[in-house]
Amino acid sequence: MKAKVYDVVIVGGGPAGLSAALVLGRALREVIVIDEGSPRNKVAAQSHGFLSRDGVCANELRSIAAQELTPYKTVTYLKGVVCDVKRGDDCFQTTTLSNQTYESKKVIVATGMKDQLPTIPGLEHVYGKSVFPCPYCDGWEHREKPLALFTTGNQALFYTKLIYNWSKDIIVFTNGDMNMDEVSRKELQLHQIQFVENTIQQLQSNEGTLQRVVMNNGETYERTGGLLQPIYTKQALTISVRTSDNGGYVTNHHGLTHIQGLYVIGDARHVFTSLIGAASEGYEAGVVIHHELVEDDWNQK
Ligand SMILES: Cc1cc2nc3c(=O)[nH]c(=O)nc-3n(C[C@H](O)[C@H](O)[C@H](O)COP(=O)(O)OP(=O)(O)OC[C@H]3O[C@@H](n4cnc5c(N)ncnc54)[C@H](O)[C@@H]3O)c2cc1C
Repeated sequence: MKAKVYDVVIVGGGPAGLSAALVLGRALREVIVIDEGSPRNKVAAQSHGFLSRDGVCANELRSIAAQELTPYKTVTYLKGVVCDVKRGDDCFQTTTLSNQTYESKKVIVATGMKDQLPTIPGLEHVYGKSVFPCPYCDGWEHREKPLALFTTGNQALFYTKLIYNWSKDIIVFTNGDMNMDEVSRKELQLHQIQFVENTIQQLQSNEGTLQRVVMNNGETYERTGGLLQPIYTKQALTISVRTSDNGGYVTNHHGLTHIQGLYVIGDARHVFTSLIGAASEGYEAGVVIHHELVEDDWNQK
């Protein structure tokens, strides 16, 4: 029996992938979403900045999306991990770790990024709970509070300026990185921002709330929350598409890669898109792909 050829295989069921599935389902297209189910923000208790869903629990956003997809019978959701996407002669072949292959006319990669945290003992207990990667996502909840800023010497000034918008009570920790230039040091001093360049021994916390930063030399700094930069990220799925300097995949402005029919959207494309940005890219790619499918169908007659 000939294998089914889907219109679109979507790899990744975050806001980017599910939003593309919604628009394609509404356009009556045969779509399969293959999703590992491990989104980047899974450690966060709440998500912010998604208009109409501000403050929603991170998992709830996904379950609402999954529910909204149920009327669209041409959309299938499959739990699985994709390990390979190949362009064959007539169609794409997407293979999972369980060795199932799915054929399709188009593929959307919406796999997001994987975060690799700096090795600071205790960070794993506070990350996503009181120490965050993005001030637009979680800065408001920590406005005017005593914050720790975990950054590098050469990013310290840039990042402090940004976070200073939410709180003036900031201590910058470079965790052993002494590479801060003189201009940055002077600027921070001028704005009465303390910076600590020693190595961090551990972060102490209580039920996810940061309490203090303990240094190797025994000094301690009381803080109730923090921001973290940089987060080292890597692609969740490797495909043979060129990566940009910041680690995203290179595409045109609709997410199309140099391989005809292969799209990359969301964090996989931009490294950090935000939930609503990723959903918006999913919608846009869905529409563009649908136009291509319509054109192909028309020309086949
Ligand atoms: C701690 C934290 C808090 C955040 N808080 C906010 C916030 O409050 N507001 C906001 O707007 N943004 C927030 N973000 C950013 C936001 O999570 C991302 O920008 C957004 O999730 C990107 O959506 P996406 O669909 O591209 O990727 P994701 O949401 O990461 O989804 C990708 C999906 O693809 C799956 N996947 C990966 N590889 C494979 C594979 N090989 N096969 C099958 N499936 C695969 C993953 O398991 C996952 O389910 C936060 C990020 C972090 C780290």
